[in-house]
Amino acid sequence: MGRTATRLMKAGLSALHYSGASGLLAPLTRGDGVVFMMHRVSPQPTEAFEPNRILRVTPDFLERVIRQTIARGFECISLDEVPARLAGPARARPFACFTFDDGYRDNREHAFPILARYGVPYTLYVPTDYPDGRGVLWWLELEAAIRAADAVDVEVGGVPVRLPARSAPEKERAYDAIYWRLRDLPEVEARAVVARLVAAARLDTSGLCRELVMSWDEIREAAKDPLLTIGAHTCRHFALSRLDAEEARREMAASRARIEAEIGRPCRHFSFPYGCERAAGPREFALARELGFATAVTTRKGLVTRGHAATPTAIPRLSLNGDFQSQRYVDVMLSGVPFAMWNAARRVLGPAAARRRAGLVSPDRAATSNG
Ligand SMILES: [Zn+2]
Repeated sequence: MGRTATRLMKAGLSALHYSGASGLLAPLTRGDGVVFMMHRVSPQPTEAFEPNRILRVTPDFLERVIRQTIARGFECISLDEVPARLAGPARARPFACFTFDDGYRDNREHAFPILARYGVPYTLYVPTDYPDGRGVLWWLELEAAIRAADAVDVEVGGVPVRLPARSAPEKERAYDAIYWRLRDLPEVEARAVVARLVAAARLDTSGLCRELVMSWDEIREAAKDPLLTIGAHTCRHFALSRLDAEEARREMAASRARIEAEIGRPCRHFSFPYGCERAAGPREFALARELGFATAVTTRKGLVTRGHAATPTAIPRLSLNGDFQSQRYVDVMLSGVPFAMWNAARRVLGPAAARRRAGLVSPDRAATSNG
């Protein structure tokens, strides 16, 4: 999401907050639960050019969200409890789950101790190539390449992209232009483009995954905490909808088998890489079900309702986004009002037009990394 879209989104959320509309409408739109999604958690200040800042929240913000969630009456539960909770009798108290994608090491240092202190269950979704040290964090590699460059000159899907990248705003524009073109390419091809940019910037990103992501030893150590559930997130972190059915199934089943072998516990939950509508759809939801996952989460934005009892492998999440680290935004989102408005706009205008006209955040961008 560009800076303009972010500003529009913030203005919209603030309007809902200050007008009191979110409070008034909440009884109509509030779900039965929420699954929070995070990626990185670190106190490090944001850099002038850091397009992946949306994937990073501070430990302080996480702690405030935990307190706020509990204060608003949500019951923090583990994902294991969600299917029964959705199928069981209606309850006045909504539930909240905290989830982390990709296995970043900063989670262990900055997030898990906070969750443990509050006794809040949490889930970590691990793409199995990552703790092996051979994951490709291409969105961060792209950021590093553009940070190091004064200009980009690369062919993406047969189209030359030549853009200046001297200042932070120029770098942002170059990142956005390339990122979205890459998301339309087959993933192997997209990663090859990033590798060319990394080489052109004379960088070596081969150690990035090992530097940023937990090893199996660290994951096993973290998994000793009974509050932690480990979920699968494929092996290579490819968008499953782009793979043929057999390959998609293999990614899902092999990652689960590997996690079970590494941690010695059943792995019952799954997160779709990228998780947006273009990366995971009905075929993938059915595959997760056939493979016996109890739940699977997307990066589609929304609250969880009892209707999801019928679709437990297509659970939406609420992203705790580095650009929206304010309790007032979280309050508005917990009301469910922005999602009701978003869905209404989509029904009337269609998905692409809804994004443009409503000035709302496309769920896709929140998934830069993934889900
Ligand atoms: Zn991911």
